[in-house]
Amino acid sequence: MAIKKPCYNCSGGGTVTTYDGEQVPSEVECPVCAGEGTLEFAEIELEEGVYATYKISEATDATEYNALTDGQKAVYHIILSMGTVDLSDGTSVRATLFAFFDENSTTRANLLTLIGE
Ligand SMILES: [Zn+2]
Repeated sequence: MAIKKPCYNCSGGGTVTTYDGEQVPSEVECPVCAGEGTLEFAEIELEEGVYATYKISEATDATEYNALTDGQKAVYHIILSMGTVDLSDGTSVRATLFAFFDENSTTRANLLTLIGE
């Protein structure tokens, strides 16, 4: 599956301004999105259970992050630095994050929403 986002080239308008030899501006169909105004991006799930770690950062509640110990924060930063992580049931990354953010936490709820559970 893919998700659609506004085209970076035409900001979603579907047209861009070009200039002819006389420097007369004209609106033409955006060559990047072919006038659609949107581009398809890969879904956030890279493969079964695998996610980009910036999604974990987005899912993390700032107050709950601040409540982590320095040691937990260090481990959390290592996880984020991996780039991609497998959040499938049974992985150590998942177990670690769920140990840091208990079942009543906003962060855990956000992570479960992210992974569709
Ligand atoms: Zn475009």
